[in-house]
Amino acid sequence: MTDQNKPVGDFAALGLSDSILSAVAKQGYSEPSAIQQQAIPAVLAGRDLMAAAATGTGKTAGFTLPLLQRLNQGRRAGSRQVRALVLTPTRELAAQVAESVEVYGQHLPLRSSVVFGGVKINPQIARLKEGVDVLVATPGRLLDLYNQKAVSFDHLEILVLDEADRMLDMGFIHDIRRILKALPKQRQNLMFSATFSDDIRKLARTIVHDPVEISVTPRNAASTAVEQWLCPVDKKQKSALLSQLIHDNGWDQVLIFTRTKHGANRLTKYLENDNIRAAAIHGNKSQGARTRALADFKSGGVRALVATDIAARGIDIDQLPQVVNFDLPNVPEDYVHRIGRTGRAGATGQAVSLVSADEIKQLSDIEKLIKKPLQRKLVDGFEPEHDLPISAPSKKPASIRKAKPPRRNGGQRPPQKGNNRRRGAADTRQRSGNR
Ligand code: AMP
Repeated sequence: MTDQNKPVGDFAALGLSDSILSAVAKQGYSEPSAIQQQAIPAVLAGRDLMAAAATGTGKTAGFTLPLLQRLNQGRRAGSRQVRALVLTPTRELAAQVAESVEVYGQHLPLRSSVVFGGVKINPQIARLKEGVDVLVATPGRLLDLYNQKAVSFDHLEILVLDEADRMLDMGFIHDIRRILKALPKQRQNLMFSATFSDDIRKLARTIVHDPVEISVTPRNAASTAVEQWLCPVDKKQKSALLSQLIHDNGWDQVLIFTRTKHGANRLTKYLENDNIRAAAIHGNKSQGARTRALADFKSGGVRALVATDIAARGIDIDQLPQVVNFDLPNVPEDYVHRIGRTGRAGATGQAVSLVSADEIKQLSDIEKLIKKPLQRKLVDGFEPEHDLPISAPSKKPASIRKAKPPRRNGGQRPPQKGNNRRRGAADTRQRSGNR
């Protein structure tokens, strides 16, 4: 696996059964990768998934492990029936995924099979006759088999589209549409693609419903266009500091991340009380409320949008000037996704983190991931009582600078470079159209 997708966390904590955990342990994986950490609980919960993940991220186990666990809880496949279908663009990938299914499912009483063109069809027909719980297939051969009535999808529970971008590149779109027509409407859909182009999003709209979105390809990790820094501050002072930063710097459009839904609600109230128009988006908000909040944020009616990571993944806001990490995320990759929302398309952005002493572990993990210490700036009047320790990755202490004294009474700083567009000009799009 590539460096940025190095393992994080613990497999057992993700809700996988002992049989699957023992197969995983046999592979020598000690910890889940970033995509596994996020995808496994979502798939186990029955959610649809849209994941931007290239080969090398551990994506195959990311969908295979929870898929096997879900199938193991239901009834075995009947004759010619398939319960989970994994579509791949190439024979090689089909064979590879099928092998993973075998390996991870070695302690489970599930049947799996793989079908692709260029080899005899009769053995495939014979195997399908007995019914398979997981079928890995390339689109062309699968359609042949379907047209010959060798396979039926009446009991299909889960569809996985692997490497969807390559499928489109290889001209499989019509085959995919034909296959989709043959599937029951009620099913779980998992879509993986290295990139999410407009064409892929268009396809996704016809497949996934209210998906959990995951991206393990940092968009702006190395971007120098994003100015990143942190303010050491005591936890109980964070709201007041944020409010002051927004007022004093004249931030007109700021996306703020909190770790919890409750935290998002509390902060929104605080800002509103302080005369900053704010709205929260998170999993407990209805789709209507989220759409409204986004539209208001885009038009400039709402100045501060407070979001949890999951909710924010469903939105794509281009050229956002200002991102604030009110809490640091537990998963360091989320930091990269958060700040990837600013400074796009050549524009300059700022990403500011408010960090209290108890977040030193999260800070160290982030600095390790981005391979540099974040510059620290103390704000007058908010110097913490509980010192933020020097983080592990900083060999020498990160430079501590005093921020410029805040300007009171609405005195605005000159606009940031690249940040001088009019408020509300940001292009706010929903990613999948299904959220
Ligand atoms: P994939 O991105 O699914 O093609 O997987 C890339 C490689 O990472 C494969 O060789 C897997 O066996 C390996 N791999 C998957 N998950 C883990 C993990 N949690 N720890 C270590 N290696 C893994």
